Amino acid sequence: MICDAHVHMGYYSRKGWREPFYYSPRRVFGVLDRCGVEEFIVSSTCAQVEEIGIDALVREAREMKRLAGRRAHVFFWLSGHLYDEDHEMHWLDLGLFEGFKFHEGETPWMQRRQKELRRILSVANERGLPVMFHAGPVAGCCPSELSRLACDFPSIHFNFAHCRPMDEMAKVIADCPNVWADTAYMALDEFPKLSDYDWHGRLMFGTDLPVWQAHENCGLTERYREYVRAFRVMGLAKCARMAFRDFCKRSGKMDQCPQFYVVKDQCNKEKIKR
Ligand SMILES: [Zn+2]
Repeated sequence: MICDAHVHMGYYSRKGWREPFYYSPRRVFGVLDRCGVEEFIVSSTCAQVEEIGIDALVREAREMKRLAGRRAHVFFWLSGHLYDEDHEMHWLDLGLFEGFKFHEGETPWMQRRQKELRRILSVANERGLPVMFHAGPVAGCCPSELSRLACDFPSIHFNFAHCRPMDEMAKVIADCPNVWADTAYMALDEFPKLSDYDWHGRLMFGTDLPVWQAHENCGLTERYREYVRAFRVMGLAKCARMAFRDFCKRSGKMDQCPQFYVVKDQCNKEKIKR
């Protein structure tokens, strides 16, 4: 059995379609179920379509949980405009969302909103929720830049997705025991390179389903099977499944007192007011 650490549902561009295509929970789960995926982490790309609000994302997450139950771990893709809708993030109290996803290309959290990002991370820390970041070789997304957050929040489990650049990612994994990586959207011919590094048991399998259809005319189930097959050949699947389980485990409340963050947040708010 395989676990997929990086799946999306919601509106996304699709090759040959003028408007964003809606990848419903049913469609996405159908592919995963047919391919024998045991558990997966899913977040909604709807956050990128501005007119979609929190209520719609909650409905979508509920639908995924109804279909997939505990096999689905729904992460909230926190877009800046969704954060602005509710700074207290009341949607967390629904118990539906098990983590956060951030994408610098969509909201410049690292480059322009880092204070708010750190406030959100302090909430993730208090609640023991894991966090994933889109990572890559551009400003605000580099694993080494993101690793500063991992050092400052040592109890949060971070996934710096995509293993890009691989050298840098492997170094961050070696240095930060609370950082994981996933293989989402890697080209199949890059898989063999994975074996050149020690991932310290923190490399997860990930696909980025259904993103392939943005650039290729392909069937999702077929493409997914091909991706799983190529990864299995590497002999990393068993390790990746364990890495997934460790990543999803609630990190629990840490040694830091949550009060500390409340006080710090109030200070930050006051500073902003002034
Ligand atoms: Zn993704």
